[in-house]
Amino acid sequence: MRALVISDIHANSIALKAVLDAAGKVDAVWCLGDLVGYGPDPNETIEIIKDLPNLICLLGNHDAAVLGQIRLDAFNREARESIEWMQSNISPDNLFFLKMLPEKHVIGQVTLVHGSPRNPVWEYILDVHTAADNFPFFGTKVCLVGHTHLPVVYIHSTDKGTVNWALLPVGEKYVITDRVILNPGSVGQPRDHDRRAAFAILDTYRMTWMPERVEYDINEVQNRIKSSGLPTRHATRLGDGM
Ligand code: ZN
Repeated sequence: MRALVISDIHANSIALKAVLDAAGKVDAVWCLGDLVGYGPDPNETIEIIKDLPNLICLLGNHDAAVLGQIRLDAFNREARESIEWMQSNISPDNLFFLKMLPEKHVIGQVTLVHGSPRNPVWEYILDVHTAADNFPFFGTKVCLVGHTHLPVVYIHSTDKGTVNWALLPVGEKYVITDRVILNPGSVGQPRDHDRRAAFAILDTYRMTWMPERVEYDINEVQNRIKSSGLPTRHATRLGDGM
Protein backbone atom coordinates (compact mmCIF):
# COMPACT_ATOMS: atom_id res chain seq x y z
CA MET A 1 0.00 0.00 0.00
CA ARG A 2 1.16 3.51 -0.89
CA ALA A 3 0.16 5.88 1.90
CA LEU A 4 0.49 9.64 1.74
CA VAL A 5 1.73 10.75 5.17
CA ILE A 6 1.01 14.35 6.16
CA SER A 7 1.09 16.33 9.38
CA ASP A 8 0.67 19.81 10.83
CA ILE A 9 -1.46 21.29 8.08
CA HIS A 10 -2.39 24.14 10.42
CA ALA A 11 -5.39 25.48 8.51
CA ASN A 12 -3.28 26.04 5.38
CA SER A 13 -5.64 24.54 2.80
CA ILE A 14 -3.67 26.03 -0.12
CA ALA A 15 -0.57 24.06 0.91
CA LEU A 16 -2.72 20.97 1.51
CA LYS A 17 -4.16 21.12 -2.02
CA ALA A 18 -0.66 21.45 -3.50
CA VAL A 19 0.45 18.38 -1.53
CA LEU A 20 -2.54 16.29 -2.63
CA ASP A 21 -1.88 17.24 -6.28
CA ALA A 22 1.83 16.47 -6.01
CA ALA A 23 1.26 13.11 -4.28
CA GLY A 24 -0.98 11.86 -7.11
CA LYS A 25 -2.83 8.58 -6.68
CA VAL A 26 -2.34 6.94 -3.30
CA ASP A 27 -4.11 4.06 -1.53
CA ALA A 28 -4.54 5.87 1.77
CA VAL A 29 -3.96 9.19 3.50
CA TRP A 30 -2.51 9.19 7.00
CA CYS A 31 -2.68 12.55 8.73
CA LEU A 32 -0.79 12.97 12.01
CA GLY A 33 -2.79 15.86 13.47
CA ASP A 34 -2.77 19.62 13.93
CA LEU A 35 -5.31 20.34 11.23
CA VAL A 36 -5.93 23.75 12.76
CA GLY A 37 -4.07 26.64 14.42
CA TYR A 38 -1.97 29.40 12.76
CA GLY A 39 -3.52 29.42 9.26
CA PRO A 40 -6.58 31.13 7.79
CA ASP A 41 -8.66 28.20 6.49
CA PRO A 42 -9.55 25.69 9.23
CA ASN A 43 -12.98 24.83 7.79
CA GLU A 44 -11.80 24.23 4.24
CA THR A 45 -8.84 22.18 5.57
CA ILE A 46 -11.07 19.90 7.64
CA GLU A 47 -13.58 19.55 4.80
CA ILE A 48 -10.86 18.45 2.36
CA ILE A 49 -9.39 16.01 4.90
CA LYS A 50 -12.79 14.50 5.78
CA ASP A 51 -13.39 13.42 2.18
CA LEU A 52 -10.05 11.73 1.54
CA PRO A 53 -10.16 7.99 0.79
CA ASN A 54 -8.93 5.51 3.43
CA LEU A 55 -8.20 8.31 5.82
CA ILE A 56 -6.61 7.84 9.22
CA CYS A 57 -6.44 11.17 11.03
CA LEU A 58 -5.10 11.80 14.52
CA LEU A 59 -5.62 14.47 17.14
CA GLY A 60 -2.86 17.08 17.49
CA ASN A 61 -2.23 19.47 20.37
CA HIS A 62 -3.72 22.44 18.51
CA ASP A 63 -6.83 20.39 17.67
CA ALA A 64 -7.13 19.40 21.35
CA ALA A 65 -6.68 23.03 22.43
CA VAL A 66 -9.43 24.23 20.10
CA LEU A 67 -11.68 21.57 21.66
CA GLY A 68 -10.84 22.92 25.13
CA GLN A 69 -8.96 19.74 26.08
CA ILE A 70 -5.64 21.52 26.70
CA ARG A 71 -5.23 24.68 28.74
CA LEU A 72 -4.41 27.71 26.61
CA ASP A 73 -1.67 28.87 28.97
CA ALA A 74 0.40 25.92 27.69
CA PHE A 75 0.83 27.91 24.43
CA ASN A 76 2.72 31.10 23.61
CA ARG A 77 0.72 34.29 23.08
CA GLU A 78 0.40 34.13 19.30
CA ALA A 79 -0.48 30.44 19.30
CA ARG A 80 -3.11 31.18 21.95
CA GLU A 81 -4.59 34.01 19.90
CA SER A 82 -4.83 31.79 16.86
CA ILE A 83 -6.48 29.00 18.90
CA GLU A 84 -9.07 31.48 20.22
CA TRP A 85 -9.69 32.68 16.64
CA MET A 86 -10.21 29.04 15.59
CA GLN A 87 -12.68 28.48 18.42
CA SER A 88 -14.90 31.26 17.14
CA ASN A 89 -14.49 30.44 13.42
CA ILE A 90 -14.75 26.67 13.11
CA SER A 91 -18.19 25.30 12.23
CA PRO A 92 -19.93 22.92 14.68
CA ASP A 93 -19.68 20.03 12.17
CA ASN A 94 -15.95 20.53 11.80
CA LEU A 95 -15.47 20.79 15.57
CA PHE A 96 -17.31 17.50 15.87
CA PHE A 97 -14.88 15.96 13.36
CA LEU A 98 -11.94 17.09 15.54
CA LYS A 99 -13.67 15.71 18.62
CA MET A 100 -13.82 12.23 17.10
CA LEU A 101 -10.09 12.04 16.29
CA PRO A 102 -8.05 9.37 18.12
CA GLU A 103 -4.69 10.03 19.82
CA LYS A 104 -3.07 6.88 18.46
CA HIS A 105 -3.70 4.36 15.70
CA VAL A 106 -1.95 1.09 14.80
CA ILE A 107 -2.25 -0.38 11.30
CA GLY A 108 -0.13 -3.41 10.30
CA GLN A 109 3.50 -2.62 11.09
CA VAL A 110 2.86 1.09 11.63
CA THR A 111 1.94 3.12 14.74
CA LEU A 112 0.64 6.65 14.15
CA VAL A 113 0.73 9.48 16.70
CA HIS A 114 1.03 13.26 16.63
CA GLY A 115 3.84 13.84 19.14
CA SER A 116 5.36 10.62 20.48
CA PRO A 117 4.22 7.06 21.28
CA ARG A 118 4.88 7.76 24.98
CA ASN A 119 2.82 10.95 25.11
CA PRO A 120 0.84 11.06 21.83
CA VAL A 121 -0.51 14.60 21.85
CA TRP A 122 2.14 16.64 23.61
CA GLU A 123 5.72 15.27 23.62
CA TYR A 124 8.21 16.57 21.02
CA ILE A 125 10.81 14.16 19.65
CA LEU A 126 13.62 16.59 18.88
CA ASP A 127 16.75 14.57 19.66
CA VAL A 128 18.11 11.02 19.72
CA HIS A 129 17.75 10.70 23.49
CA THR A 130 14.02 11.40 23.43
CA ALA A 131 13.69 9.12 20.40
CA ALA A 132 15.59 6.32 22.21
CA ASP A 133 13.31 6.68 25.24
CA ASN A 134 10.28 6.30 22.97
CA PHE A 135 11.21 3.10 21.06
CA PRO A 136 9.91 0.84 23.90
CA PHE A 137 6.51 2.60 23.72
CA PHE A 138 5.45 1.09 20.38
CA GLY A 139 5.41 -2.50 19.20
CA THR A 140 5.47 -2.04 15.42
CA LYS A 141 8.43 -1.66 13.07
CA VAL A 142 7.53 1.92 12.18
CA CYS A 143 6.20 4.82 14.22
CA LEU A 144 5.01 7.95 12.42
CA VAL A 145 5.15 11.26 14.29
CA GLY A 146 4.68 14.94 13.46
CA HIS A 147 4.46 17.89 15.89
CA THR A 148 8.03 19.26 15.52
CA HIS A 149 7.50 20.42 11.89
CA LEU A 150 10.94 18.95 11.08
CA PRO A 151 11.31 16.03 8.63
CA VAL A 152 13.69 13.47 10.12
CA VAL A 153 14.23 9.75 10.72
CA TYR A 154 15.38 8.11 13.97
CA ILE A 155 16.81 4.62 13.46
CA HIS A 156 17.07 1.99 16.18
CA SER A 157 19.89 -0.35 15.23
CA THR A 158 18.91 -3.84 16.40
CA ASP A 159 22.51 -5.16 16.43
CA LYS A 160 24.06 -2.34 18.37
CA GLY A 161 21.02 -1.19 20.33
CA THR A 162 21.86 2.43 19.45
CA VAL A 163 19.63 5.17 18.07
CA ASN A 164 20.80 7.49 15.27
CA TRP A 165 19.08 10.18 13.30
CA ALA A 166 19.28 11.30 9.68
CA LEU A 167 17.93 14.01 7.44
CA LEU A 168 16.87 12.26 4.26
CA PRO A 169 17.25 13.73 0.77
CA VAL A 170 13.98 14.92 -0.79
CA GLY A 171 12.64 12.68 -3.55
CA GLU A 172 14.84 9.69 -2.70
CA LYS A 173 13.48 6.44 -1.33
CA TYR A 174 14.81 5.32 2.03
CA VAL A 175 14.59 1.57 2.61
CA ILE A 176 13.37 0.75 6.12
CA THR A 177 15.31 -2.15 7.62
CA ASP A 178 15.64 -1.41 11.36
CA ARG A 179 12.86 -0.04 13.57
CA VAL A 180 12.32 3.64 12.87
CA ILE A 181 10.49 6.76 14.02
CA LEU A 182 9.65 8.82 10.91
CA ASN A 183 8.54 12.45 10.72
CA PRO A 184 7.22 13.80 7.38
CA GLY A 185 7.57 17.48 8.43
CA SER A 186 4.77 20.03 8.19
CA VAL A 187 2.39 20.72 5.31
CA GLY A 188 1.26 24.15 6.40
CA GLN A 189 3.94 25.63 8.68
CA PRO A 190 7.40 24.14 7.87
CA ARG A 191 10.20 25.04 10.28
CA ASP A 192 13.32 23.55 8.74
CA HIS A 193 14.28 26.64 6.71
CA ASP A 194 12.56 25.20 3.63
CA ARG A 195 9.33 27.07 2.92
CA ARG A 196 7.89 24.39 0.66
CA ALA A 197 5.11 22.16 2.02
CA ALA A 198 6.47 18.85 3.33
CA PHE A 199 4.97 15.36 3.03
CA ALA A 200 6.11 11.77 2.56
CA ILE A 201 5.07 8.57 0.84
CA LEU A 202 5.25 5.34 2.84
CA ASP A 203 5.14 2.13 0.79
CA THR A 204 4.12 -0.56 3.27
CA TYR A 205 4.82 -3.47 0.84
CA ARG A 206 8.33 -2.45 -0.13
CA MET A 207 8.92 -0.75 3.24
CA THR A 208 10.20 2.48 1.75
CA TRP A 209 9.81 6.08 2.86
CA MET A 210 10.17 8.99 0.47
CA PRO A 211 10.24 12.57 1.80
CA GLU A 212 8.85 15.15 -0.63
CA ARG A 213 8.39 18.94 -0.88
CA VAL A 214 6.13 21.07 -3.05
CA GLU A 215 5.87 24.80 -3.74
CA TYR A 216 2.55 26.56 -3.16
CA ASP A 217 1.25 30.13 -3.21
CA ILE A 218 2.69 31.39 0.09
CA ASN A 219 1.80 35.04 -0.67
CA GLU A 220 -1.86 34.16 -0.97
CA VAL A 221 -1.83 32.38 2.42
CA GLN A 222 0.07 35.27 4.04
CA ASN A 223 -2.51 37.75 2.73
CA ARG A 224 -5.34 35.59 4.01
CA ILE A 225 -3.74 35.35 7.48
CA LYS A 226 -3.34 39.14 7.63
CA SER A 227 -6.83 39.95 6.40
CA SER A 228 -8.48 37.51 8.81
CA GLY A 229 -6.97 39.19 11.87
CA LEU A 230 -4.78 36.25 12.88
CA PRO A 231 -1.31 36.96 14.38
CA THR A 232 0.94 38.15 11.54
CA ARG A 233 3.94 36.25 12.92
CA HIS A 234 2.46 33.06 11.46
CA ALA A 235 2.35 34.72 8.04
CA THR A 236 5.97 35.91 8.30
CA ARG A 237 7.16 32.46 9.41
CA LEU A 238 5.68 30.89 6.29
CA GLY A 239 7.97 32.98 4.12
CA ASP A 240 11.04 31.99 6.15
CA GLY A 241 10.10 28.32 6.51
CA MET A 242 10.97 28.79 10.17
ZN1 ZN B 1 1.95 21.62 14.75
